[in-house]
Amino acid sequence: MRDFTLTAYHALLDSLQAAKYQFQTFSGFLKNPAVRTIMLRHDVDDRKLHSLEFAKIQHARGIVGTYYFRMVPESFDEGVIREIRDMGHEIGYHYEDMDFANGDPHQAVKLFEKHLDRLRKLAPVTTICMHGSPRSKYDNKDVWKHYDYRQYGIIGEPYFDIDFKKVFYLTDTGRMWDGHKVSVRDKVEDHFGLSFHSTPDVIDYIGKGNFPGKVMFNFHP
Ligand SMILES: [Zn+2]
Repeated sequence: MRDFTLTAYHALLDSLQAAKYQFQTFSGFLKNPAVRTIMLRHDVDDRKLHSLEFAKIQHARGIVGTYYFRMVPESFDEGVIREIRDMGHEIGYHYEDMDFANGDPHQAVKLFEKHLDRLRKLAPVTTICMHGSPRSKYDNKDVWKHYDYRQYGIIGEPYFDIDFKKVFYLTDTGRMWDGHKVSVRDKVEDHFGLSFHSTPDVIDYIGKGNFPGKVMFNFHP
């Protein structure tokens, strides 16, 4: 099986559904975490139509995911966002306002507010997630050293509001499941001692029944 194709993706969802996981949006998880839960998180960095395809596949299976959109045209698209929203998925803001503001947190928070409003015209937004460009000298999370996103009606940011001792995190950075080892920003501390390279590796492990109970997958479709 060629990896990181739709075939591999379907096989992964098959194995998770066969293992009787519940699928939750990030906000749904924060409000009421299930015992065995999968969060399918999508950072829509670009190629927004790929994300739309993922959303349709999930919808056809009766499962939901969370989609984080940037303000750039490769990501932000009113039609795509509405369509994904209408399928019952969660829409969130993939913020990079420290980059937009050249590292000035006061300017960044003003932009954050404006961009959040723009997205909220299309969908209710209660969670956000930072965009981490490897080329940027700024860490977009740093705006929250000066401000509190809860003031904007935001209930969660994965990097701050998930206990990664309890939630296993897998990201497809670099088209592998262990690329976080070389990524600068998309990193969480490992508490599970588990490492997977390919999708078939992950599927094998799910099939054996040893996969953790709470998992966040991060896709860059
Ligand atoms: Zn991103």
